[in-house]
Amino acid sequence: MRLIDTHTHLDFPDFDHDRPALLANARAVGVEKMVVLGVHQDNWQRVWDLVSSDPSLHAAFGLHPVYLDQHRPAHVRELGDWLSRLRGERQLCAVGEFGLDYYLPELDRERQQRLFEAQLQLAVDFNLPALLHVRRSHAAVIATLKRYKLARGGIIHAFAGSFEEAREYHKLGFKLGLGGAATWPQALRLHKVLPQLPLDSLVLETDSPDMAPAMFPGVRNSPAHLPQIAEALAQVIGIEVEQLAQISTRNACELFGW
Ligand SMILES: [Zn+2]
Repeated sequence: MRLIDTHTHLDFPDFDHDRPALLANARAVGVEKMVVLGVHQDNWQRVWDLVSSDPSLHAAFGLHPVYLDQHRPAHVRELGDWLSRLRGERQLCAVGEFGLDYYLPELDRERQQRLFEAQLQLAVDFNLPALLHVRRSHAAVIATLKRYKLARGGIIHAFAGSFEEAREYHKLGFKLGLGGAATWPQALRLHKVLPQLPLDSLVLETDSPDMAPAMFPGVRNSPAHLPQIAEALAQVIGIEVEQLAQISTRNACELFGW
């Protein structure tokens, strides 16, 4: 089984004590490529250093809404500088992680919107896919994406929306990132939505170290868990895991141009 983990934070200190072993384990179970996403200006160098050390890793850079208080206007310009400097590098794959988070009330929505749009503009300018964090904010994200029209689309990470929202994203050229969340028995709405989603819009992810799947509760998540996550998702969707692996890998390769 060949798999791609489209969303990880493998640069986080959680992995400092065993990163090379973990990467080797992930590859041994068929995870061929992993995307590492930057979340604030402080970790971009760490992300790039990590990715440069291993050809199976790919980097994205962004300003995550959850770290809103740390972001400064200069960071948007610096993000542009990073993208120009790395333009054409094989291991630069997207802008992200960024988006809108309406779940946490302390995050000012107008400031989030300005940062969101500035980064969408960078995705347009550099012709890169956008890897988006969308929490309780699908309507605002869909409305904004309709104005920006990203030629290469992107991924709605940890998709947990409705079928109608999935259809809107599909029309906008976006893939839907599925991972640990849908493996939990209590994710009833997701279990109804998943079998209705077009297979050509699905990509897989772990969000390591977060979003532990039901079979590894409460532990640090890892790309090496992706085969079991895929197995559980395939059951929910009602297809063979081998088919889900093939389709999701093809979808990710198409999106990132691999
Ligand atoms: Zn993330």
